[in-house]
Order: sequence, then C-alpha cells, then structure tokens
Amino acid sequence: MAQNQASPLPYDFIGQILITQEQIEQRVAELGAQITADYRDSDRLLLLGLLRGSVVFLTDLMRKINRPMTMDFMLVSSYRGAESSGFVRIDADHKINIHNWDVILVDDIIDTGYTIHTVRKLLLERQPRSLKICALLDKKARHKVDIHIDYLGFEIPDYFVVGYGLDIDEKGRNLPYIAAVDLEKYRALYGSGT
Ligand code: 5GP
Ligand code: MG
Ligand code: MG
Repeated sequence: MAQNQASPLPYDFIGQILITQEQIEQRVAELGAQITADYRDSDRLLLLGLLRGSVVFLTDLMRKINRPMTMDFMLVSSYRGAESSGFVRIDADHKINIHNWDVILVDDIIDTGYTIHTVRKLLLERQPRSLKICALLDKKARHKVDIHIDYLGFEIPDYFVVGYGLDIDEKGRNLPYIAAVDLEKYRALYGSGT
C-alpha cells in the first residue's frame, strides 16, 4: 500500500539541523587542503583522534589530506563535578610513540575545553615535534579554559548536538549532518539524556 515515503528521520528526537551534509563536506575539504599545505614539509604527520566522537570527522578529513600520514586514537572520559574543575581519565592510550611526530589532536566538539586542555598537556610531555588542535565544532561561549583551535570546522551556539560521529547516549552518530537534540522530547522518550 502507498505510504508517505518522505525519508523518515532515523531518530525521533532530532530538532533543528544546524549544519548540513554539504556544508560539512565543503568545510572538511577546506581543512584538508589547509593541513596539506601546512604540513608540506612533514613526513611524520599523525592525526590523533579522541574516540569515539571524532571517528567520522577524522576518517573523512584524512582522505582530504594529500600528504603521507597515519592515524591513531585515544579513548578518554571526562567528568564534570558541580564546581568548574574538569577531570579527564585515559581509558585507552594511543599506540604510536609520538616522540618527533607532527601531531594533530582531533576531537568532535569543544565545550568547556577541559578535555582538549588536559590531553594536550599530557601529549606535550611525550615530546611530539609539534602539536596542533583540530575540532569539528566549538561552543566557544562555554569555554572554561583558554584553548587555541588551529583547525576548526564550525562554531555553534550552546545546543546539545548529535550526528556525524556525535552521540546522545550512543545514539545519533550515524546521521550525516549536525542536528540539535530536542531535549524535551528526548527526556520524555528516554529519561535524562546527555
Ligand atoms: P569538554 O571537555 O570540552 O567540556 O567536552 C568535550 C566533550 O564533551 C566532547 O568531546 C563531547 O564528547 C562532549 N560534548 C560536549 N558538547 C556536546 C554536544 O553538544 N553533543 C555531544 N554529542 N557531545 C558533546
Ligand atoms: Mg568527546
Ligand atoms: Mg558522547
């Protein structure tokens, strides 16, 4: 029987689409071209992604980098107490010895900045040749520490977003765009969230 086939959304808590698939594609290509140019003299480029949110971004980005390079990952958990001090735990460390590598630390989104700030400090102790920060998204207004982002996809307002690798309780990572979560709907359907 004929049904409404207007491609239904795969999740029922998706709010406004903030960044389209086309916008992401274009920006990722620009970042790749910029990195290609900036690292033209390097033969030891390492994209170091934070699992799991950065995977989609990192794997798209690396195919726009026309230089020899490799990738590695770390798994970290961030905890936020009531007071504004971030604590970051390393659940799984990277495999490659980054000493003398040109490292680009890649994350999906920077919120308070604690995660990137802490991981960056740790990586610097391991003496890479250089260390830069790359993030798909930045909620700049929410930073609690001073963070310099060398390669940024998009600055966004303070919404909780999913898609293109980002999740809410592990849901939503497969969306090809960035969408705000309708938190009221989410809580009604699943309880607390975020
Ligand atoms: P930060 O340490 O900068 O406060 O936190 C960064 C991490 O918090 C991100 O890597 C991401 O895992 C999570 N996060 C912050 N804001 C959002 C958001 O809007 N959506 C999702 N899915 N994760 C977020
Ligand atoms: Mg993360
Ligand atoms: Mg998450």
